Amino acid sequence: MSLIVQKFGGTSVGDAERIRNVARRVVATQQAGHRVVVIVSAMSGETNALVALADELGGPERSDREYDVLVSTGEQKTIALLSMAIHALGHDAVSFTGAQLGMRTDTSHSNARIESIDADRVRKVLDGNAVAVIAGFQGTDADGNITTLGRGGSDTSAVAVACALEADVCEIYTDVDGVFTADPNMVGAAHKLAQISYDEMLELASLGSKVLQVRSVKFAMQYGMPIHVRSSFHEAEGTWVTREEDVMERLVVSGVTYNRNEAKIRVGGVKDTPGMAGALFGGLAEAGIVVDMIVQNVSHDGSTDMTFTVPKPEYERAIQLANELAPTLGGDATVEGDPDIAKVSVVGLGMTDHAGVAAKMFDVLAQESINIQMIGTSEIKISVVIEEKYTELAVRALHQAFVEDGASEPRSEG
Ligand code: ADP
Ligand code: ASP
Ligand code: MG
Repeated sequence: MSLIVQKFGGTSVGDAERIRNVARRVVATQQAGHRVVVIVSAMSGETNALVALADELGGPERSDREYDVLVSTGEQKTIALLSMAIHALGHDAVSFTGAQLGMRTDTSHSNARIESIDADRVRKVLDGNAVAVIAGFQGTDADGNITTLGRGGSDTSAVAVACALEADVCEIYTDVDGVFTADPNMVGAAHKLAQISYDEMLELASLGSKVLQVRSVKFAMQYGMPIHVRSSFHEAEGTWVTREEDVMERLVVSGVTYNRNEAKIRVGGVKDTPGMAGALFGGLAEAGIVVDMIVQNVSHDGSTDMTFTVPKPEYERAIQLANELAPTLGGDATVEGDPDIAKVSVVGLGMTDHAGVAAKMFDVLAQESINIQMIGTSEIKISVVIEEKYTELAVRALHQAFVEDGASEPRSEG
């Protein structure tokens, strides 16, 4: 008897009728002879509404602990409602909050990491022929404080539970048909991929595709857990996220993605001597600011400049800190920033044996008169920073050039 973990996102449990549909699907899976564990998100809009209330009443100094107590309530509502809907169909279901499940995390409120899961409690429920319905996105730390896993964290709850229970598959039900070559809500011509490797999915997720939370892909990759991303509105197959050797088609570019949630900071007039980068980025790291792309220019007259990106919510703090650090960077360092940027990336395993992807990317952007401000590469991705207002234009043009105009080829043997 196989064990299937099914995760339903916010839209999929968005109202009573949709919850009833989820209950029907869960029961049908069980009746087909499987053991079923369900992870749910809050109903769509619910988490945003709770975050807005926290901002209104708590302000910038609000307590991180109480924030998690609040925003975790959305999922608690859904587990109860879905369990009731399953009962109404004449079947047994037992709900679990993160605490009841024994979902242990570290203490980083609103961005906690999972440390362990007590799978026995769920196994007992399954042994009794019931469905286990688990609240995603939440856990508790060693002192019993409620924690949450970061926005989109129910994906990670689902994959982590699947790994802990050694499930056969983790199905992620969402409001699109699978993983597409670009965000289908932005690029009409994007198409669904039948399969994608963990590495490519990890890049897509970290570069902005919110269809899966990054940490969920990391867990899946580490444990070899197959993820099936599919629509909650029909039965069609979605996208399998799996090992590279199981992916039949090798595309030069399998996805184009974007991230509007970063800001750019340039520190000019930095003395070109050892220790300056360490002083600047060490100071930012100490303040817990995660820097993404970094570019340092060739030095002129003994001074250089460094440009880097930070998450938009950290922008003001990073600018202030860079200004405080400037006097330690060798004389007359100056700081300027620009929050109106976007990072646009192309991702594909096929790039490793294809020269010219970067040149083609730059050419496509030039033809649209889009200026490139920064460039970053790895083996399987190329990212550029551009002016934010050109995001859609850039994503569409790159999708056209790399995906629609056919840059795919059959997977090479060996
Ligand atoms: P859920 O509430 O089910 O977790 P999310 O809103 O978190 O759903 O993620 C699904 C959304 O991800 C889609 O509606 C789509 O707009 C977006 N998305 C971004 N990039 C992609 C992509 N490459 N493939 C599919 N969906 C994508
Ligand atoms: N409800 C949470 C959010 O909106 C977690 C999730 O949906 O995955 O971010
Ligand atoms: Mg999501």
